[in-house]
Amino acid sequence: MRIVVLAGGIGGARFLRGLKAAAPEADITVIGNTGDDIHLFGLKVCPDLDTVMYTLGGGIHEEQGWGRADETFTVKEELAAYGVGPEWFGLGDRDFATHIVRTQMIGAGYPLSAVTEALCARWQPGVRLLPMSDDRVETHVLVEADGERKAVHFQEYWVRLRASVPAQAVVPVGAEAAKPAPGVLEAIAAADVIVFPPSNPVVSIGTILAVPGIREAIAEAGVPVVGLSPIIGDAPVRGMADKVLAAVGVESSAAAVATHYGSGLLDGWLVDTVDADAVAGVEAAGIRCRAVPLLMSDLDTTTRMAREALDLAEEVRA
Ligand code: GDP
Ligand code: CA
Repeated sequence: MRIVVLAGGIGGARFLRGLKAAAPEADITVIGNTGDDIHLFGLKVCPDLDTVMYTLGGGIHEEQGWGRADETFTVKEELAAYGVGPEWFGLGDRDFATHIVRTQMIGAGYPLSAVTEALCARWQPGVRLLPMSDDRVETHVLVEADGERKAVHFQEYWVRLRASVPAQAVVPVGAEAAKPAPGVLEAIAAADVIVFPPSNPVVSIGTILAVPGIREAIAEAGVPVVGLSPIIGDAPVRGMADKVLAAVGVESSAAAVATHYGSGLLDGWLVDTVDADAVAGVEAAGIRCRAVPLLMSDLDTTTRMAREALDLAEEVRA
């Protein structure tokens, strides 16, 4: 079975662990969000690709959900001693090596997709990890701060400002001119199932869908497209997804996220058992819906979630 997953960082990566356990024989291609990418200290940092790579490759800081385990911060401290920031972005020494290798390869002319493949040769994530595009796309958030409207890089909004200022718009700058990375459209066309994990619907999956050709390829693939809600009981499980949903005019609820994707894209949707009341409304919108436990508290529960998603896919196929 060929499965394609559109993934952001933590939510996508944790779900993928369960999916690998639920379908050990499957051939899994992950299309990763690169809208969160940022240049820091002259280095290209790809937070979501790295979260997937480290999580599946066994290098992730488990409690934190991003960055490397057993990390130290000597380089960051030394940079700060020179007065060189930003200090709000936590790059550890081990993590720095990844960004140095990536930046060096990009400087030598390799596209991001080739660089990602080279980095994965070390981590062996057990999936084929593709960036959504080799072209530069950067999500910016339009905020109102200190009485003026300005656009800030998504990382600045998310990490430095902790999404605490109202967001008026979320713009994937460069997306409209970006091309899907080599292999992306081919993987979608060859898929048996396409899965939207419980990743952020706006700044993770929404950004991937903003690359021209990807949304259309998914809608036209003619295979089940199933998703899992990142919203449980009207709030994101981790993080601040409600803030960016509000910016695009979508209510923070499992049902609203399903209808935001829409029945033109989504065939099946899983909501948590606490949101069982939402099932009828989602089905009325033309999307098959089931309520199952969606908290990824350990590998077993996450594996059960992945199995439910694959079962739902078979149900809509039938
Ligand atoms: P990011 O790029 O690191 O922000 O990660 P993603 O976009 O892949 O996933 C973030 C989303 O994962 C958040 O909106 C959370 O609500 C969701 N999430 C995190 N943990 C869980 C969980 O255990 N269950 C569900 N259903 N969603 C989760
Ligand atoms: Ca992210």
